[in-house]
Amino acid sequence: MEIQRNGAMPSRPGQAEYFTGSVRLDASFKRDDPARVGGLTVTFEPGARTNWHTHPLGQTLIVLSGIGRVQRAGGPVHEIRPGDIVWFEPGERHWHGAAPDVAMSHLAIAEALDGVTVDWQEPVLDAEYAAPVG
Ligand code: MN
Repeated sequence: MEIQRNGAMPSRPGQAEYFTGSVRLDASFKRDDPARVGGLTVTFEPGARTNWHTHPLGQTLIVLSGIGRVQRAGGPVHEIRPGDIVWFEPGERHWHGAAPDVAMSHLAIAEALDGVTVDWQEPVLDAEYAAPVG
């Protein structure tokens, strides 16, 4: 058993090459082989979001606070709220972030394939982000 204490790891900013706007990353964890699971808490300021990306073995998001937005390529933008659990299929192109006027925090959990949990793509354009919520 291992207890990773709250505060053992400093908050760090989301890298500008992978995110638009202000993003904070906390409490990341990664298990060793043969386990594959890892995750972290991501907090998006209003309007902030990930780039488009995929996960080789999929990803689960659990919304912790605020109001957010998610979209998979070719689908509408959906609003997400605390308690919602979002699953992205392996290889499904998507993004996630805050609502335009409200911050959002989610727990993100993904399994690694050959050490890779995410494949980053291009930023989400303002026009894509601002599409009507479906
Ligand atoms: Mn994702």
